[in-house]
Amino acid sequence: MNSTLEYPFKGWGLQKDNKPLIIAGPCSAESEEQVLSTAKQLKEQGIDILRAGIWKPRTRPNSFEGVGSIGLEWLKLIKQELGMKVSTEVANVKHVYKALRMGVDIIWIGARTSANPFAIQDIADALKGVDIPVFVKNPINPDVDLWMGAIERIQGAGVKRVGAIHRGFSTFDKTRYRNIPQWQLPIELRRRMPDLPMICDPSHIAGRRDILQEISQKAMDLNYDGLIIETHINPDKAWSDAKQQITPAQLKILLGKLVLRTLNANDPSIIHTLDDLRQQIDKFDNELLDILEERMKVAEKIGEYKKTNNITILQPDRWHEILTKTQEKGKNRDLSDEFIAQIFKSIHQESINKQTKIMNEG
Ligand code: PEP
Ligand code: MN
Repeated sequence: MNSTLEYPFKGWGLQKDNKPLIIAGPCSAESEEQVLSTAKQLKEQGIDILRAGIWKPRTRPNSFEGVGSIGLEWLKLIKQELGMKVSTEVANVKHVYKALRMGVDIIWIGARTSANPFAIQDIADALKGVDIPVFVKNPINPDVDLWMGAIERIQGAGVKRVGAIHRGFSTFDKTRYRNIPQWQLPIELRRRMPDLPMICDPSHIAGRRDILQEISQKAMDLNYDGLIIETHINPDKAWSDAKQQITPAQLKILLGKLVLRTLNANDPSIIHTLDDLRQQIDKFDNELLDILEERMKVAEKIGEYKKTNNITILQPDRWHEILTKTQEKGKNRDLSDEFIAQIFKSIHQESINKQTKIMNEG
């Protein structure tokens, strides 16, 4: 990471520098030896915050469900011996009390729990008066309201440092992702809650190692505040999520390759060039609006004419013709079929709306 940007986490005092917040560590704590040596290697790479699941919510029974409370002792040891901050997942009130008693520095709420408002409210009640950062993973189903609701419940308990973790969403379809990212959802959440820190969990989005870099970069390009990445001393032998974990050394390479871009440039010449380009965009946007206005006026004329002559509004053949022709022409202009379809569907819909209004007037 080659940048000196300032991230909102600066105020949270979680790590020494102002770079994106990095949380790393195994999916699960498996043994004292495993979690301690992973932590040591991470510490050597300059990582200050460890993650390790103690209680593992597994979708199906008979898979490893975590070592339980004993793992908290190992995390305590890591805090004492290495001076790292430690984080773990809590899924119920008992977990919250146990984790707090041990002195965990950060907790997160998993995707299966975020989807359940009863569970979240119980956890929120247990967190009253607690002053550690709490991250809320997106619910497994793509529902921004549900995610926001979970965050609001935790904030409602008076927790000051609440953040979100984007870990992707379940689908029935087989895709290249384990959980499809659906970037528009975290973007929408951020639009609604602009001050909410957002970190990305590329490990659970990917479910595999080879696309972690690309997902992490995308998160940085979308201005995320940090990453939480599953890291294990011997990933292939991990008791859970083996396919997506990487070694601390591989994590270092991944982070080293990340390109960090700023939201707002300070350099006057950059600002000037950007302004210039934006003015060109504004000019084209205005032209688009003028053309759309003219086009709708013609659509209205057609509406009047259809009304007088008792012709239906929707002419499926004509619509099909417009779509195929524009997509064909789009190809020569490097505009994708999907883009053309989206644009022309909404233009067509607006024409239909206008014509419907005319048909029903008087
Ligand atoms: C995890 O972080 O290991 C985990 C269980 O994640 P999620 O809740 O996103 O499935
Ligand atoms: Mn995991």
